[in-house]
Amino acid sequence: MKQVTVPTLQVEAYASLAGEAAVERIRALARPLEGLRVVHVNATAYGGGVVELLYPLVGLMNGLGIPTEWWVLEGTDAFFNVTKTAHNGLQGADVAIDPAMQAIYREVNLANSRFDWDRYDLVIIHDPQPAALASLVGERKAPWIWRCHIDLSTPNPDVWAWIRPYVAAYDGAIFSLAQYVQRDLTLPLIAIIPPSINPLSEKNRDLEPAEVEAVLERFGIDRNRPLITQISRFDPWKDPLGVIDAYRLVKEAIPGVQLLLVGSMATDDPEGWTFYDRTLRRAGEDGDIFVLANLHGVHDREVNAFQRASDVIIQKSLREGFGLTVTEGLWKGRPVVGGETGGIPLQIQDGQNGFLVDSVEACAERTRWLLEHPDEASQMGARGREHVREHFLSTRELEDHLQLMARALKITPPVTPREGLFLAG
Ligand code: UDP
Repeated sequence: MKQVTVPTLQVEAYASLAGEAAVERIRALARPLEGLRVVHVNATAYGGGVVELLYPLVGLMNGLGIPTEWWVLEGTDAFFNVTKTAHNGLQGADVAIDPAMQAIYREVNLANSRFDWDRYDLVIIHDPQPAALASLVGERKAPWIWRCHIDLSTPNPDVWAWIRPYVAAYDGAIFSLAQYVQRDLTLPLIAIIPPSINPLSEKNRDLEPAEVEAVLERFGIDRNRPLITQISRFDPWKDPLGVIDAYRLVKEAIPGVQLLLVGSMATDDPEGWTFYDRTLRRAGEDGDIFVLANLHGVHDREVNAFQRASDVIIQKSLREGFGLTVTEGLWKGRPVVGGETGGIPLQIQDGQNGFLVDSVEACAERTRWLLEHPDEASQMGARGREHVREHFLSTRELEDHLQLMARALKITPPVTPREGLFLAG
């Protein structure tokens, strides 16, 4: 495995955004946990939502005097093909993990399991890729927790049946939503922790209007015409093709509209290139569609600027574990039109801070309405920012993790846990 270097962060820096009270609760919760060691393991240090939340979480834990490390498992292309299939299956796709694939999965996990786990007081393993570690390491000293970030509302039964024994070996699990908890998974500790965004990161910090304009200019986007944007990996569940279809319907009524699709390539996502090509083909020769990737120099600051410059943010997912791009859009005061699936309805309050949609037509209709009603759109955006402030900033996630850590280690916390945090344990 490879360690990711994470800059230490101080929770005080978040007081003006998250409130003094939250910072005080966090300090109190951290005190009895000082000096205890935590390790997080996932499958990539680049791309996707897990990376977004691990940087602030790990950085803040270290700032609180709880030494926390983040390691990334090492795998082969064949392994990541298996885990992408597993990911798709767990989100409901009609796929199979055959015995050869099962063997590849186990082998890579076994190779990564040779590690000095005894150094830690708590081990947190993210997502299906390294999920087998708990059952392969032999005797365990610390509690092991599996955190699932994907939409498990309707898993393919065979894929779930395959991974379930690996998951059942854990001492506890974290899901983003209560509806993802599988009935046949009985673990001593189950927590519901929705993900969060770091309001101080390069992706989410405030930007000067001139910075936003400079980014638009660099990519040839006209700031005087309406802009709708989806930022997502090129993945069938994110439905970039449906977004293009919806844009075309909007364009019939609002000819000046521009569409921006931004999608980074995560290192653990082998499907990305194929779907990128399909997206380009669907966009065709339309010069008002911009399809950009990290290879074009689109990094966190550019994503930030694009979200701020957009009149409407779209996240037309067909399945979505949580959807940090929705959180990011709302935090920037933009109304978001999102697929009615997974974690999106937790964030979009239909008609309040955006709209939930379940078809290309509905997506187009709601987007068009927002473009034609800029005052209502900006009020919705303002409500969205407050919703995120209350529920989806890194400080809330940190607080939940401190509560979880206390519970897993049987330490009585000095602050009562948030309602709904623990389903079991
Ligand atoms: N992201 C990015 N550049 C891109 C596409 C996505 O930085 O081109 C980021 C996006 O801003 C968000 C994360 O990747 O922070 C995606 O998280 P989300 O929960 O929306 O989806 P996931 O990729 O985890 O399924």
